[in-house]
Amino acid sequence: MAEWDESVDVIVVGSGFAGLTAAVEARNAGSSVIVLEKMRAAGGNSIISDGGFAAAGTELQRRLGIDDCPELFYQDMLKAGLGLNDPALARTVTQRAADVLRWSADYLGVRYLDRADRFGGHSAARCYAVAGTGGAALVKALLKKTAELDVPLRTGCALRTLLTENGVARGVVIEQQYNPRSGRGGSLKRLRAQGGIVIATGGFGADTPFRMLQDPRLNADIDTTNRESATSEALVEAVRIGAACVHLSHIQLGPWASPDEKGFGSGPRFADYVGFLYGVVVDPLTAERFVNEQSDRKVLSDAILRVGKPCICIADQAAVQRSGWNIARAVRKGVVKGFTDLDELARHYGLPSQRLARTISEFNQAVQRGTDHRFQRSIPPDSEPIENPPFLAMRLWPKVHYTMGGLSIDQRARVMDLQGRPISGLFAAGEVTGGVHGACRLGSCGITDCLVFGRIAGREAGTRCTNRGVRASGKDLPLSTDSTRGVAADSPTAGDRQH
Ligand SMILES: Cc1cc2nc3c(=O)[nH]c(=O)nc-3n(C[C@H](O)[C@H](O)[C@H](O)COP(=O)(O)OP(=O)(O)OC[C@H]3O[C@@H](n4cnc5c(N)ncnc54)[C@H](O)[C@@H]3O)c2cc1C
Repeated sequence: MAEWDESVDVIVVGSGFAGLTAAVEARNAGSSVIVLEKMRAAGGNSIISDGGFAAAGTELQRRLGIDDCPELFYQDMLKAGLGLNDPALARTVTQRAADVLRWSADYLGVRYLDRADRFGGHSAARCYAVAGTGGAALVKALLKKTAELDVPLRTGCALRTLLTENGVARGVVIEQQYNPRSGRGGSLKRLRAQGGIVIATGGFGADTPFRMLQDPRLNADIDTTNRESATSEALVEAVRIGAACVHLSHIQLGPWASPDEKGFGSGPRFADYVGFLYGVVVDPLTAERFVNEQSDRKVLSDAILRVGKPCICIADQAAVQRSGWNIARAVRKGVVKGFTDLDELARHYGLPSQRLARTISEFNQAVQRGTDHRFQRSIPPDSEPIENPPFLAMRLWPKVHYTMGGLSIDQRARVMDLQGRPISGLFAAGEVTGGVHGACRLGSCGITDCLVFGRIAGREAGTRCTNRGVRASGKDLPLSTDSTRGVAADSPTAGDRQH
């Protein structure tokens, strides 16, 4: 029998949206919980995300007169995912999205802008934006809640080994004082989980060797929007103890990224929120459109990569105003450039000027008709011809953004083995899992996935001890004896079984 340094009911590994959500729910289920994070600070990719959250059939949509429902959302996800999505997982996300959105507002106190956006591949405006600092505001709200619930967060602690007894996940070995630069840490510690372990370690977009193993084209020359924490070691460790993986080679590139800045940067706000909606994307050699700019990320990125050179996204100032988004940072950084006329724009990017004028004129006719015969692109009702200077443009070149593949889970967030059986005591949520999105994740569905499955994983792991009457003992972390402790009176989670 292993010697344990500490014991707790639930161990959550990873402090992004999925891990923190799971920690809140496990605690609210009456368990003692600890969150382990290898970096010096919490947040992972979640804290740098844009904070876009997709849900159908919401109160806000009803108020804005937007006709939408979870079934339509589900169909859109399957279409983008090329039907590879695990139907049960995709259904779980689409059906619970509106509830979880409300939970984040009512229970966590997250505020959303009073608008709904429609991104490529979604057939309705159903993407909401966290107010303030985007994803960082949502992480902050989750951290505040975990602190209120007395859930300790241990940073600089990397998961090294998952420990099993008779096939049951029992605990972890962690490396303390972990240094992400050297990939090494200090002393090792064995922590026991009486109830369960939730793996919420995110995707592997920044792990070049591992992503090249899945898709050799994604070498170090292709930039990523991810933080350096997005690596594969926890996923690999789960595989070592028998976990199955799905869809690992489906790695998403963000088509709205700019080669003129590092990482996610400021350009995507212009390309995704303005250019793809009201403007055009042209081939730099021919100045012609070559794709439906409202396509999902996979279709758009593949089309740009086929062109083989950074393509040009063009809109005008009036479109920026209609979008209601502020793109000043991208302009200040020179990622988005302004031009007084289309000739000047063509000269700057080396586009054939007459051909560009024809492309814009053809597109403007499509806007006036309300239909785009060329690429069957839907024209938003508030669209207007591109004709009001300054004209704005940016170069586009895709970057690794999201990894659709990961640990195989079921609807209860239980990690599955290669025989399709759950590994007892092991749960996973968020980008480390695979199957929800199939071949392509639609914009704003990552956060929804993290919160929906984070809640399920936390609740499942958190109720294992309380249901069995087993609680951590000995050199334990502080425990609650009252199983409702920490649950706000009006919390929608109180007494709400997930399954
Ligand atoms: C720039 C950017 C913008 C985005 N914008 C949006 C958006 O607007 N809407 C949307 O839906 N999606 C968006 N996404 C995707 C979405 O943000 C991510 O999929 C989501 O944040 C992942 O959350 P997570 O909790 O699964 O992982 P993360 O937030 O990445 O957290 C995982 C944590 O686990 C830790 N960890 C990893 N390995 C170990 C280990 N061995 N031991 C201990 N800890 C470990 C990491 O350090 C990290 O802190 C965006 C992504 C990026 C990069």
